[in-house]
Amino acid sequence: MKRRQTVSVNVGGVMVGSAHPVVVQSMTNTDTANAEATAIQIAQLVRAGSEIVRVTVNTREAAAAIPDIVARLKEVGIEVPIVGDFHYNGHILLREFPETARLLAKYRINPGNVGAGQHHDANFATMIEVAREFDKPVRIGVNWGSLDQQVLARLMDENTANGSPKTGTDVMIDAMVVSALESAAYAEELGLAHDRILISVKVSSAPELWQVYRQLAPLCDYPLHLGLTEAGMGMKGIVASSAALAPLLIEGIGDTIRVSLTPEPGASRKLEVEVAQQILQSLGIRQFLPQVTSCPGCGRTTSTFFQELAQKIQDYIRDTMPDWKAKYPGVEDMQVAVMGCIVNGPGESKHANIGISLPGTGEDPRAPVYQDGKLLTTLRGPRIAEDFQELMEKYVEQ
Ligand code: SF4
Repeated sequence: MKRRQTVSVNVGGVMVGSAHPVVVQSMTNTDTANAEATAIQIAQLVRAGSEIVRVTVNTREAAAAIPDIVARLKEVGIEVPIVGDFHYNGHILLREFPETARLLAKYRINPGNVGAGQHHDANFATMIEVAREFDKPVRIGVNWGSLDQQVLARLMDENTANGSPKTGTDVMIDAMVVSALESAAYAEELGLAHDRILISVKVSSAPELWQVYRQLAPLCDYPLHLGLTEAGMGMKGIVASSAALAPLLIEGIGDTIRVSLTPEPGASRKLEVEVAQQILQSLGIRQFLPQVTSCPGCGRTTSTFFQELAQKIQDYIRDTMPDWKAKYPGVEDMQVAVMGCIVNGPGESKHANIGISLPGTGEDPRAPVYQDGKLLTTLRGPRIAEDFQELMEKYVEQ
């Protein structure tokens, strides 16, 4: 996969651009004014693997809470770039709360709601001035649901005057691209450096997401923040986000991703980080954990032993190995196979760095373990999962 060439933008110490790994980011859903709840959720997201976290900064209370949030995180040893998401009143809040402006790592500006008419340019200019003053990058975050109406009306008129056969959707996509690029150009006119700008153009359906990002990508070298906005809840949101993001990522489009899931009541926000990581991992773009290949099981694995073994190994890797690359510097990406029987088991196990293959059904399972393509040992008895975990740890250590 060849990445689309983009400049590198420093977001609070995390580099975003084609010379760097695709960055995983997320957003809190707490009331930002509640510094304690927001700091706790940011810490959860960071521990799940979020490399940048965005918070809404929508009121004076929210803006005033940012220093407290940063201090609380520092107390528990977390220093993560925090991005302020501004709509309607960002020009006021950034000016009124300079310490907040200083502490935030990036400002998200939505050109569709910084104000209309002359206020649009003046409010936008104020935010860019603050960004320049504090040397911060901005994301020009265009959203289908809050598109700049002046740009849209202009393009609609041009389309009608040209007698163009473009559909309303096509013109909206054009308007998103034009709004993003004109805003970025205006920010540069105002003195913001080229490498202090990122762009996103988010819509809520996969085909339109492909259309708008493919249209935008060749027109600039700003890093692109990729995400399907309002992807939905649960499995629908996960599948929709994966289906939407994967083709673009494979084409090299996207320098940072966010998966926007509507959380199920009581569910942890960190699911969106885990899904983003898994999308990148499944595409072979980044590896956050050893990749587990496990077969679905079939009539050859009628006991629950195989499912329990696969679950135990998956849980073990998720819970104990998230820092395995940091713990063992220089270790390469790793594949683990957990297979149910001899049909595909030995083959998949030999392809993996380390793999285990059960014999299918049976009261007294014997499970050959392959390491680097060769039979290492055969495990048996009630502690097969635990014994295999030990072998995995030893393998990584070696
Ligand atoms: Fe079934 Fe064996 Fe294939 Fe697993 S490897 S799906 S148990 S045939």
